[in-house]
Amino acid sequence: MDDKIKQLKDIIDESENIVFFGGAGVSTASGIPDFRSADGVYNQKLNRNLNPEELVSHSYFQHYPEDFFDFYKEKLVYPDAEPNNCHLGLAKLEEEGKLKAIVTQNIDGLHQKAGSKNVYELHGSTERNYCTNCGKTFDADYVLNADGVPICDVCGGVVRPDVVLYEEALDPNVINSAVNAIQNADTLIVGGTSLVVYPAAGLIDFFRGKNLVLINKGETIADNKADLVINDDIAKVIGEATGIE
Ligand code: NAD
Repeated sequence: MDDKIKQLKDIIDESENIVFFGGAGVSTASGIPDFRSADGVYNQKLNRNLNPEELVSHSYFQHYPEDFFDFYKEKLVYPDAEPNNCHLGLAKLEEEGKLKAIVTQNIDGLHQKAGSKNVYELHGSTERNYCTNCGKTFDADYVLNADGVPICDVCGGVVRPDVVLYEEALDPNVINSAVNAIQNADTLIVGGTSLVVYPAAGLIDFFRGKNLVLINKGETIADNKADLVINDDIAKVIGEATGIE
């Protein structure tokens, strides 16, 4: 086992209240592209003169719903994706009572699919959808199978994903729970996030515990604050450190 992964394993062994804070890099090994890596959505030819942040903004959804859903269905929803060893390892740590919460910026629902229970989804989930008129809820397939803009089968309103679009506020209850979990953690493992999307990225400043671990393929602005930095594939690192692989 790599020296740094062994150090992570030792930290996990000695910790009693671990919180994991993650982003899109957690799911790249499941075949879901992140936004900012070389092969991420930002660097793909989108055939549109807009960047992904504009394409998944509230104003774009309101003014160009057809184009919004084209992009959303093509680039943001992956119904066949399966959890990788990062998701599975974290679920195992929760089952063992060591990990108390996952705070995620991801919208893919893969932590729950892996078996994790206490997951705070800062940016919502593509698994949940609701009618903007009457509030009726729908699953991901309803939106994916709709021809163009999904329409409510009860009232004819537009059905939208329960995800936080750019220009929209985060759910204060989810933020409070996430802050609370991070403040009480003895170890915070941060992984697969570029830490540039605020306010989510600012949550790690609430950590007051003993071990701050950063796992990312590249450098992040928080590297200098961390007790352990591992620049490697997070599915491999968490998988090995938790005995999944
Ligand atoms: P990001 O794209 O800005 O950054 C991803 C980071 O993960 C990068 O720093 C990259 O180096 C790293 N990374 C990629 N693959 C990795 C791997 N296998 N192991 C370790 N590190 C890896 O993502 P972000 O910081 O989460 O911010 C993007 C926003 O886009 C988020 O708000 C998120 O909601 C959304 N998003 C979500 C998904 C998803 O749900 N899976 C996918 C794309 C974007």
